[in-house]
Amino acid sequence: MAWFNPELEPLLAVAAATLDGDGLLIEANAGFLRLIHAEGQQPIGQSVSRFFRQPDFSALAGMPAGNDGEIHRGLLTIGDFMGQTRTVHARIWRTNGQLRVLAEHDIAELERLYATVLELNRDYANTQLELAQTNLKLQQREAQITAISLTDPLTGVGNRRLLEESLAKEISRVERGGGTLCTVMADLDHFKNINDRYGHDSGDQVLMAFGALLRQHTRPTDIVTRYGGEEFVLLLPHTDLEHALAAAERIRTALAGCLIEPLRNPVTASFGVAEIASGEQGDALLRRADMALYQAKHSGRNRVVAG
Ligand code: GH3
Ligand code: MG
Ligand code: MG
Repeated sequence: MAWFNPELEPLLAVAAATLDGDGLLIEANAGFLRLIHAEGQQPIGQSVSRFFRQPDFSALAGMPAGNDGEIHRGLLTIGDFMGQTRTVHARIWRTNGQLRVLAEHDIAELERLYATVLELNRDYANTQLELAQTNLKLQQREAQITAISLTDPLTGVGNRRLLEESLAKEISRVERGGGTLCTVMADLDHFKNINDRYGHDSGDQVLMAFGALLRQHTRPTDIVTRYGGEEFVLLLPHTDLEHALAAAERIRTALAGCLIEPLRNPVTASFGVAEIASGEQGDALLRRADMALYQAKHSGRNRVVAG
């Protein structure tokens, strides 16, 4: 390796080689061996003249030398052991009957490739972002749908499905030793008369007002649901019978003390309250509250009865 700096030897982006006048490869650096795809070959001592396509080897060999022996400067199309061709920027000198080739891989092409990769990466990042945003919207939509499917459309409180789901959750919490649970069943008194006297729309107004009043007089962690018609069920987690009776009483007094438009007299409600017993299931708890409500109705209405 006399003519090129030994530092050239391991370089891959620069190809350097010395050939004799017949095209036998005398010496080559790593970049040149890669250019002709010489992996697994023993190219030193072999003729590589056939790889010189444009200009071809005989044209190069017959070229008159310039002042410093240069016979070519510019593009060189070169083939390889794999049967592929590549065009590189090259300078070729002839000195003492030998050809010295120095070529560089097309840096501009590499830069174009790099720019394309960057652009693809940007597109990919944008697509990922759009996907994340779409997912978020989808999750929000799903949460909205779930909320709607558990809400009573007239009053905005929970529906029977929410009651059933919440009751199952609360009972399993109690079973795991998580304290107690009470239920309050409330039914508006003589509601049929209100519909008959003021019309169905006014009846709806009363149902909405009662739903709001129940929300207003309970904790955010309490579950307020419309069970059907003019009957509502509350679930009061972590509440014993004494406190549940007090809560029902507060609601009863509040309702009896207010006037709902366009009614001329206050509307009242009856309440049945029950606390979960050990090992009791949800339907049994609701049945006991319903029986207490039945007693409240039959003992004169506008009252709270414990089951
Ligand atoms: P009680 O004191 O024994 O509970 O008597 P009540 O009249 O309240 O009970 P009843 O079961 O006889 O009547 C309930 C009425 O509630 C009958 C029904 O038309 C009315 N109702 C049920 N759902 C709705 C509703 O969504 N809107 C209105 N406006 N009325 C409803
Ligand atoms: Mg009623
Ligand atoms: Mg009823």
